[in-house]
Amino acid sequence: MWIVNCSNHAGTTSYTYNFEIGLGNEYKGYTYNGLLRWNGTNEVSIIQNPISQNIVKSHGGPDTSTVAKTTSWANSTTGHKTRWEISYNRYLMGNRTTDQNNSTATHELGHTIGLSDLYNSTNKNKVMYGVGDRTVHTPSSYDIAGAREAVK
Ligand SMILES: [Zn+2]
Repeated sequence: MWIVNCSNHAGTTSYTYNFEIGLGNEYKGYTYNGLLRWNGTNEVSIIQNPISQNIVKSHGGPDTSTVAKTTSWANSTTGHKTRWEISYNRYLMGNRTTDQNNSTATHELGHTIGLSDLYNSTNKNKVMYGVGDRTVHTPSSYDIAGAREAVK
């Protein structure tokens, strides 16, 4: 299954992002990896643009168990996103493997498309599984079907 956030989804197949100044190269790398996986589905085209208001950044604190979070704003009439931010938790991601962090970046980018977390353990085989370790790290056919709806 998949869940599209009807009041907060991309509403377009093509949009931009930019990195916060000073973001570590490892975090840029995880992001590039996630972008390749989503752009490779041919459902979306997420491209870097230095004037983009959509920002990929990081924060330091150990004050949360959330590995990364995506915050976004949307037009209340259309439900289409107007701006979003991904923030990686350096404290937690610094202790995880590159594979895990690439998977996290792919998951967060799924939120920028408008896909919601899946919490039931039957969804471990989707990148939008949002609780613990998932068994896939690339968008599954379900994630892709959800993305196809979220860009409408
Ligand atoms: Zn999530």
